[in-house]
Amino acid sequence: MRVLLASVLAFSVIFALNGAAEAKEVVMLPTATGTISSSFGMRLHPILKRFAMHKGVDFKARRNEALYSITDGVVQFVGTRGSFGNVVEIYYPHAKASALYAHLNQVAVRARQRVEPGELIGLAGSTGRSTGPHLHLQMKSSTGRAIDPQAFFKKSAAGTLS
Ligand SMILES: [Zn+2]
Repeated sequence: MRVLLASVLAFSVIFALNGAAEAKEVVMLPTATGTISSSFGMRLHPILKRFAMHKGVDFKARRNEALYSITDGVVQFVGTRGSFGNVVEIYYPHAKASALYAHLNQVAVRARQRVEPGELIGLAGSTGRSTGPHLHLQMKSSTGRAIDPQAFFKKSAAGTLS
């Protein structure tokens, strides 16, 4: 009886820890280094040679470098999308936002697939309108408002994302 009670207690503790882990959202960088080569905002476009809004962040990446999901979500779209080349779009329910990973050389997920934080989603490339291999990551809220991914990373590091 004593052993059974101990087992039940142990189970309850593990359950509580799992519950706590799920309540706290894990956010990870999409590349191993997380090095950014171009930020969100107005910039002189490297190909168009005119000032334009850069609605995302460019991460340095070598061709075929692994790209990871920044948090847990559901893949919404996989395919080609104009100047973005090969893309993966993932919806992140905790953030009420979606992220577009662009210019991929290869895709490692399919539509409607669930992904974990840090899960491999594809390999970096230079497909679409791109000067060389890199990852363009852009995010938007469920209402369509552009989100600066760097602000998203800062906010989640501060623990306000739940
Ligand atoms: Zn970009």
